[in-house]
Amino acid sequence: MKKSLQRPFPIRTGVSAPVVSPIMPSVVYASESPSALDAQYEGRTQGFTYAREGHPNADMLAERIDAMEGMQGGIVTGSGMAAVAAVLLGLCRAGDHVVGADQLYGRSLRMMAEDLPRLGIETTLADVTDVDAVAAALRPETRLVLIEVVSNPTLRIADLDGIAALCAARGVLLVVDNTFTTPAAIRPAEHGADIVLHSVTKLLSGHSDTTLGWVAAKDPELAQQMRVFAVTTGMTASPFDCWLAERGLATFDLRYARAQDNAQRLASWLSEQAGVTRVLYPTRPDHPEAARAQSLLHGQGCNMVSFEIEGGRDAADAFAKAAEGIAFAPTLGDVGTTLSHPASSSHRALTPAAREKIGITEGFFRVSVGLEDPDALIGTFEDGLDAARSER
Ligand SMILES: *Cc1c(COP(=O)(O)O)cnc(C)c1O
Repeated sequence: MKKSLQRPFPIRTGVSAPVVSPIMPSVVYASESPSALDAQYEGRTQGFTYAREGHPNADMLAERIDAMEGMQGGIVTGSGMAAVAAVLLGLCRAGDHVVGADQLYGRSLRMMAEDLPRLGIETTLADVTDVDAVAAALRPETRLVLIEVVSNPTLRIADLDGIAALCAARGVLLVVDNTFTTPAAIRPAEHGADIVLHSVTKLLSGHSDTTLGWVAAKDPELAQQMRVFAVTTGMTASPFDCWLAERGLATFDLRYARAQDNAQRLASWLSEQAGVTRVLYPTRPDHPEAARAQSLLHGQGCNMVSFEIEGGRDAADAFAKAAEGIAFAPTLGDVGTTLSHPASSSHRALTPAAREKIGITEGFFRVSVGLEDPDALIGTFEDGLDAARSER
């Protein structure tokens, strides 16, 4: 695909033009006349009417992410979950069935478990590393399959190509949440995804200061259906947040490359430390889907590393306290490294046995690696591990 340079919104101030996109917080846009408004509503001219229906900052951001994913007509929403909802609630009706990965983002799982069934949409979760498990979950009324390429927090790799072929053969829409992997590692539309979505909040925006989502469909009719649903239900993104995200995107490639380098270094360093029982990272040869990770992600491991230490909860507490400077916070994709402990946060609702089954023990941590100096970062992890070892 041809790449083009990023340009700010074409607004002129006299004979010159701004080099940075302006923020346009106007809620209402005035038209010249009723006939001019007709022309606009009928698509003969371009313009805005009311910010919930669309505004320049959302369009600018959508175009940038569209280009990154190699898609068109993307919709910016007020959060990543709004993008998930635009797909699941905007495209499904009572009687439909939805299949989701069993390790989706926690809130997506909750929407599958609680909201869809309440509206008469049945759901089934499946292990998406195994295409046969997904095939077994499909029903004649299955409308869509929702997956993430790399799962959270155990970093398992979905059989994207197998599932795409299955969905195509069965006339089921394949939806990929590409938040973890980002278009720098994979562009799901090129692997058969019909719909791609993001929590822009995470790596794309990248500074933990805006909450936004994006979703695009290859089929313009589906895109329109989601757009109307998003406008009707008020999933609108704030112009200021869109502007911040656009600013963040300007450095996405650089941030991603640095974070991935740091993650690779951290993963290999961790694997050599006493008291570390497991390290999960997609490019490691001991990863359960090492070959698939190589072929899908072309040697990219992304910025997330998970690992397990000995010593249970006491060691985990000691580690988090001693790893000073690393925010113990359940987010990802920030410029700073963040640490999460799934057993006490995202997966606390599961029984210990159910957690064990997917490898989430009391010593299990997920790291979203940031842009710090790599030696300083590893030094901090060393402090954490020292403290954890002295707890045992
Ligand atoms: C964070 C996240 C979401 C939800 O995004 P918000 O912007 O927090 O609403 C969805 N999917 C994945 C994979 C995420 O990490």
